[in-house]
Amino acid sequence: MADVEMSGERETFAFQAEINQLLSLIINTFYSNKEIFLRELISNSSDALDKIRHESLIDKSKLDTQPELFIRIVPDKVNKTLMIIDSGVGMTKEELVNNLGTIARSGTKEFMEALQEGADVSMIGQFGVGFYSAYLVAERVVVTTKHNDDEQYIWESHAGGSFTVTRDINGEPLGRGTKITLFLKDDQLDFLEERTIKDLVKKHSEFISYPIYLWVEKTTEKEVSDDEEEEKEEERQVEDVDEDKEKKGKKKKIKEVTHEWQKINKQKPIWLRKPEDVNKEEYCSFYKSLTNDWEDPLHWKHFSVEGQLEFRAILFIPKRAPFDLFDTKKKLNNIKLYVRRVFIMDNCEELIPEYLGFVKGVIDSDDLPLNISRETLQQNKILKVKRKNIVKKCIEMFSEIAENKDDYAKFYDAFSKNIKLGIHEDSQNRAKLADLLRYYSSNSGDEMTSLKDYVTRMKKGQKDIYYITGESRKAVENSPFLERLKKKGYEVLFMVDAIDEYAITQLKEYEGHKLVSATKEVLKIEETEEEKQQKEEKRKSFENLCKVIKDILGDKVEKVVVSDRIVDSPCVLVTGEYGWSANMERIMKAQALRDSSISAYMASKRTMEINPDNGIMEELRKRAEADKNDKSVKDLVLLLYDTALLNSGFSLDDPNTFSARIHRMLKLGLSIEEDENAGVEEMPSLEEDQAEESKMEEVD
Ligand code: ADP
Ligand code: MG
Repeated sequence: MADVEMSGERETFAFQAEINQLLSLIINTFYSNKEIFLRELISNSSDALDKIRHESLIDKSKLDTQPELFIRIVPDKVNKTLMIIDSGVGMTKEELVNNLGTIARSGTKEFMEALQEGADVSMIGQFGVGFYSAYLVAERVVVTTKHNDDEQYIWESHAGGSFTVTRDINGEPLGRGTKITLFLKDDQLDFLEERTIKDLVKKHSEFISYPIYLWVEKTTEKEVSDDEEEEKEEERQVEDVDEDKEKKGKKKKIKEVTHEWQKINKQKPIWLRKPEDVNKEEYCSFYKSLTNDWEDPLHWKHFSVEGQLEFRAILFIPKRAPFDLFDTKKKLNNIKLYVRRVFIMDNCEELIPEYLGFVKGVIDSDDLPLNISRETLQQNKILKVKRKNIVKKCIEMFSEIAENKDDYAKFYDAFSKNIKLGIHEDSQNRAKLADLLRYYSSNSGDEMTSLKDYVTRMKKGQKDIYYITGESRKAVENSPFLERLKKKGYEVLFMVDAIDEYAITQLKEYEGHKLVSATKEVLKIEETEEEKQQKEEKRKSFENLCKVIKDILGDKVEKVVVSDRIVDSPCVLVTGEYGWSANMERIMKAQALRDSSISAYMASKRTMEINPDNGIMEELRKRAEADKNDKSVKDLVLLLYDTALLNSGFSLDDPNTFSARIHRMLKLGLSIEEDENAGVEEMPSLEEDQAEESKMEEVD
């Protein structure tokens, strides 16, 4: 180090604020699970080796600076250091400064929050800040690195706010790659023990596809003659051992201590083995090394496809969704593509559709060219067929999970949105994905039901599958839209996920049964002849009232009709079959960037359905018959419209006018005289309401 300082090129940098916070947290919080640092550093080495190997596929000469690809571990008990050396891609000075300290990853903050909520440090790798786990065991870390495009540099830090970067002029040249030297804390010296290191590599890094060598000490007993011994004593470190005094002559037993590289990982890719030869522990540990997950996977599938296509794959389903599952800015990085054992790329989008982005694994292809690039991938026909195959296997895997109720509940909780996205996007697999849907329903109690089970419970003569969409189970459970359906004993599915609205418009039917929304115009409930006749009579007697209401509400509604879906409530507002439901309107309003012209069009058609059996409606009918211009009819109709907006799942156009009307009704109920000067008089009359509204529409 003294030499380096003499060169006078040392630059000091401050850690970015969040990284600094993370470092203090790592150093000052008590974690017993410190061993994961080794896994993180080895995984970084493996990533760096992947990068250089990939570069060399296009330009072979990139390997010239160091042809061998390896990871080496050197424990040094004298200096209390542990070194991890790789011949990977290395870092340029700029990368060194950016990657190790000045630019925080999006996961930095999330990881700290997770830690504070009691998460385990071993999650660190998932958040993209694994390198800093070195400070779990080291008080000082020195990173020496050499990239093909730059000189050799040294990064060094005690944490504590800053790090330095120095050009390495006098150090031993690496050729290419990175050497991490950990100056271990005094209570962490166990990590210098051969046994400990071997166990850790076996536990966490067994499936790294590069050889991991450990610098091990070897002691051999050797018989040498005195003469020989004398000759070599100066060259070797030789220890005298119980000299065999009984043996006359010149022979002597000595212990000889030597060092050598010992390969400590198996390295044969697990996917090349036969599934029956791989046990559960091996799959789990492979999964962990592949994904940085700290938990076992929920499920996996190991398969090979032969014949027209040749590839092997292992796909895994994690137990939970990652923290950034739907972060559109972040590219998913979950399927690694290999070609004939050679790593080609992470995040191979062409191999798996977006909605399956949570599936992790490896694909090793025998029939792609080694020098395939992202650009050529897109046109590759082989890949398209592979993708089909992989999607099929994923869906098979989900169905397998569905055989176990508890597992499926976990799966559905984490990934149901992906399944629904799949129904929306993947027309080819829509029907199969529909089998995976689960919903609460008016009959389901505490357990969710599948569409298949729903169908088995359908009433005699029931043709359609009924559902209602809304904000929450609570909001839809007692919706007036369900009154008649419930009375008839029809089961209604509760779809309360925003994405259900999108999925269901694509799904349309299941096993030949139309999916019918209880809140849309199309709902037709089968009825007997007698019922039909009764309805027809009612329709006639309420014809006039319907007209009156339509006149009062004007453009607020498309039409007013007698309903056959409500039993208790006076009226509801339904939407057209192809327009948005009330719930969809709510979702779209919540999205800032919607196209307002589309929303005006999609949201426009509301039909008011009135309940002829409801007392209020009967009274209105009488009053309207007696006097077409009865003021109380107008007020009541407007109030009914507003309440219908609410219980049909829409939001109020004008909450103030609504409250004013309610207040006036309250006063009426309490027999309080109207005060001429009170604010109520300012309430716009019906005519003004409408004038306002049509003005607004013109502006639109
Ligand atoms: P991640 O591995 O998720 O990217 P890390 O905190 O483990 O996050 O590493 C940060 C970055 O530092 C890496 O993305 C890589 O660019 C760089 N890096 C770390 N270790 C090495 C190494 N051994 N060789 C080359 N680059 C490395
Ligand atoms: Mg890492």
